[in-house]
Amino acid sequence: MRQYNPRKRILVTGGAGFLGSHLIERLLDRGDEVVCADNLFTGTKSNVEHLLTHPRFEFMRHDVTFPLYVEVDQIYNLACPASPIHYQHDPVQTTKTSVHGAINMLGLAKRLRARIFQASTSEVYGDPAVHPQPESYWGSVNPIGPRSCYDEGKRCAETLFFDYHRQHGLDIRVARIFNTYGPRMHPNDGRVVSNFIMQALNGEDITLYGDGQQTRSFCFVDDLIEAFIRFMDLPAGENGQPGFPGPINLGNPREFTIRQLAEQVIDLTGSKSKLVLRPLPADDPKQRQPDISLARSMLNWEPAIALEAGLKKTIAYFESVLPSGS
Ligand code: NAD
Ligand code: UDP
Ligand code: UDP
Repeated sequence: MRQYNPRKRILVTGGAGFLGSHLIERLLDRGDEVVCADNLFTGTKSNVEHLLTHPRFEFMRHDVTFPLYVEVDQIYNLACPASPIHYQHDPVQTTKTSVHGAINMLGLAKRLRARIFQASTSEVYGDPAVHPQPESYWGSVNPIGPRSCYDEGKRCAETLFFDYHRQHGLDIRVARIFNTYGPRMHPNDGRVVSNFIMQALNGEDITLYGDGQQTRSFCFVDDLIEAFIRFMDLPAGENGQPGFPGPINLGNPREFTIRQLAEQVIDLTGSKSKLVLRPLPADDPKQRQPDISLARSMLNWEPAIALEAGLKKTIAYFESVLPSGS
């Protein structure tokens, strides 16, 4: 198809969100044409405002729970609210976005014989009994709790991706993304990095849920996007067979307690904020660290940006979006 034009046309769903907007910048930089489909539930037009006049970029307000007919060569399916506050706001819509969204995007990929990437999540491992988590671990997930709309929605999406792969020979790429941070995170999304930086910059108390001894491993957005593209660009198999489908863990294996993160944010912002303890939310995983051996060997990739360097860039971004005078 489209031998007259060597450029790739790429659909990014959820492209007006945090990760999507960075991905689109990278794709445009390397010469692709990009269609962004987003219903602006958690994303904003301001995340892609600087791209709106770009000749190879097109924004489309669209909800992925409805069918979409466009002509593209590759699809990155990122549409889904990602922070607990946002995905628990309308949990039924969250599951629909993951499941109906996956069905529609897979149907589109099937019609076009297009390669399709799924932004899955470390939440498929739930509150893990195995540490760090390799891709072979099946997870420990509550099917009926407040996080289930997201966790089980993403698990079902993975099931659909692998069934379209087996049943229809689709070339799928399923990435399990671990906590990622950076500029254009939503300032009020309740995620730990944005919360702590906003609290520190505003001189408010820093809210540690539980005792702050739970752990997470934080990946800077630029490192993550590099891995997305390397994974998507792995060649197809012999004789038109699909290439490596994943799932593959993408994240930074350096693990920190939430208390350490809070202390580092206070240090880097020079804030006078105090740490205060708040109840731990239900089903909050106690520890999380990706085993990225597979990404190291398949993608020749590992994160290069240390937490301190990434936090400095993120703090600079939040300072730039704070109302002046605060
Ligand atoms: P985000 O909320 O900033 O972006 C999600 C985007 O999807 C938003 O622009 C939102 O408006 C859009 N969206 C939501 N529902 C939609 C729908 N029904 N139709 C069309 N668009 C819709 O979140 P993010 O951090 O950029 O996450 C992007 C993807 O990566 C999500 O699928 C998320 O589950 C996954 N992920 C992110 C992280 C992380 O740490 N940021 C970790 C694991 C997985
Ligand atoms: N779909 C879409 N765009 C397309 C092709 C399909 O949005 O270009 C949707 C379509 O609405 C369908 C879904 O994808 O509900 C799944 O498509 P598939 O061909 O797998 O199943 P079927 O059409 O048989 O239900
Ligand atoms: N957290 C916290 N204070 C906050 C926000 C989050 O202590 O103000 C904790 C939260 O309980 C969890 C960790 O930080 O243990 C990461 O939370 P986030 O919502 O960012 O991501 P997830 O739980 O999905 O990994």
